[in-house]
Amino acid sequence: MDYSKLSFKDFENIPDQNMMERATSFNAYLNYLEDKGHLNYRLENSSGCGPELSLNLKGEDKGRNYVNFVSNDYLGLTQHAKVKNAATQAIYQYGTGAGASPAIGGHFSFHQQLENKIASFFRRKSAMLYTTGYTANSASIQSLLKKEDIAILDMAVHASVYEGCLNTSVKTFLHNNLQQLEDILKRVKDQYRTKLVVIDGVYSQDGDLAPLKEIVSLVHKYDAFILVDDAHGVGVLGNTGRGLIEVADLFDQIDIITGTFSKTLAGLGGYVVADPDLIRFLKFQSRQHLFSATMPPSTAMTVYSAMDVLETEPSWMAKLWKNINHYKKGLLELGFDIGTTESAIIPVKVGEPALTAEAVKMLFDAGIYANCIIYPAVSRKDARIRMALMATHTIAQLDRALNAFEYVGKKLQLSRN
Ligand code: PMP
Repeated sequence: MDYSKLSFKDFENIPDQNMMERATSFNAYLNYLEDKGHLNYRLENSSGCGPELSLNLKGEDKGRNYVNFVSNDYLGLTQHAKVKNAATQAIYQYGTGAGASPAIGGHFSFHQQLENKIASFFRRKSAMLYTTGYTANSASIQSLLKKEDIAILDMAVHASVYEGCLNTSVKTFLHNNLQQLEDILKRVKDQYRTKLVVIDGVYSQDGDLAPLKEIVSLVHKYDAFILVDDAHGVGVLGNTGRGLIEVADLFDQIDIITGTFSKTLAGLGGYVVADPDLIRFLKFQSRQHLFSATMPPSTAMTVYSAMDVLETEPSWMAKLWKNINHYKKGLLELGFDIGTTESAIIPVKVGEPALTAEAVKMLFDAGIYANCIIYPAVSRKDARIRMALMATHTIAQLDRALNAFEYVGKKLQLSRN
């Protein structure tokens, strides 16, 4: 079989193969990628989310250090002494687990404190926690929208939003295309009970931003609601790191704000921020919140402490932006296409999937660990190398990566210079 034009998507649901046969077919494809050195996923990190990391690899690469561009720990807070200390103190005070779902015994003071903190972070009254950012989207949308309602999605929103929309009507508009959004809003005007426009603040593959003000005014004009997932904006954008909503100063205009604790906030979990009635509805109607155990004390206090650091130590954001500006400038000078990023996510657009995988492999051989992003995460012609920058990268580490890019760019003729 010619595997060269295939992707993970082609193995999702092969007709006429039972689950074991499908697993076998997919394994043959994974082995093909592995043999070519193109299976750059699920690599075992043995050192944490630092700006450099070591990987548990076989053979001669064992124990080697890589510059890390794959962690969304934008401010480096997973390694911050105060944050680590808060996590260990929480274990001494409360133990290790929460033991139940929130409705039946798993709602603790540390959860309540975190709910209050995330609500006031977005200058609102109410918030709730989910065990992941993924379920904050998928589970909340799933219980808010039924078949009488419609979700209107920017086509580049996160997979979790699409999953939340499986039981409701859906229309998508081209990424950031205001004209298409308005056309859809006009067309569906009187046909659905709820019209919910769903967008990201910062988009996870391009690092570009939503035109939030313009989208909010369309939402108002057509009597719709808006949900904004700013998973990649918090800790990166806005004077105080409150994300794109702070940049646009629209805290009171966003019906539902969702996000994650797994990126800048250095832990795990997700949140939904909205008006009190809606949050209370979700606390008792959203099945993944109602029937799933809550986050452990160490995680809740990690996040609480990371939010304190974000508020009291603005130097981390300043360092992050110094790094972003240095790195973007370097890549542009080398002639790479980095699209329209305005955040800590920096793509180098290559286009062809196999060429992208080869570039990622060559960078890896040079000690640079970046993500290979291909279909179905992006469209088939839009493969790219994706990197996440951190405040704790040094300029020397970034320059090492730029040197490697210069070499790989010339060798594979990727740059426009
Ligand atoms: N939303 C966006 C935009 C994301 O990029 C991600 C994570 N990749 C999520 C939600 C899910 O967050 P979590 O990792 O906390 O499940």
